[in-house]
Amino acid sequence: MAIRQLVLGNILENCGFFFDETAKEGVVIDPGDECHKITKALEKYGFKVTAILLTHGHFDHIGAANELKAKTGAKIFVHKSDARMIEDPEANGSLLFRGEKISVKADGFLSEGDIVKTGNLELAVIHTPGHTKGSICLVSGKAIFTGDTLFCGGVGRTDLPSASYEDIMHSIKDKLFKYPDGTRIYPGHGYESTIGNEKILY
Ligand SMILES: [Zn+2]
Ligand SMILES: [Zn+2]
Repeated sequence: MAIRQLVLGNILENCGFFFDETAKEGVVIDPGDECHKITKALEKYGFKVTAILLTHGHFDHIGAANELKAKTGAKIFVHKSDARMIEDPEANGSLLFRGEKISVKADGFLSEGDIVKTGNLELAVIHTPGHTKGSICLVSGKAIFTGDTLFCGGVGRTDLPSASYEDIMHSIKDKLFKYPDGTRIYPGHGYESTIGNEKILY
């Protein structure tokens, strides 16, 4: 199992690569911007993209999804509650924050407990509403991609439409903090951390 992250765009979003080095298959998580950088990284890592997974519907996480799909043929998955957000440039913030219309259509949906298989690896879906209604985290063994739900030293914004502070705290405390302290988190922005390190703050 290999995990890599690549910082993309002027919002410095972390795009995730999760792949099986032996089977040479994997997924791309949150291709937010600058598809040319993603394809360059994929050439280097040498794996076939079997799916494009979106942790939530904000523009900084979905901006390169269409282009990456066109280049790799991989399908795009998101939680159903953010399906409208990825399609609507007003709801996903691309119009307001980037002055352009980003609209992505999901090929399939992910919900709590779903297992995404790639190569000989599995990623389990945890529904963690709060930052958006359809925010998800993706867990495999001692690694969790936390999107904009949990960061190193903070939690995601809850002042945007469809967000809820109560929900995000419930998602973090009751769902994410259930994982062992040594579990590594790979957030949608900023540094990596561990569940143990983040627990100290709450
Ligand atoms: Zn976000
Ligand atoms: Zn973000």
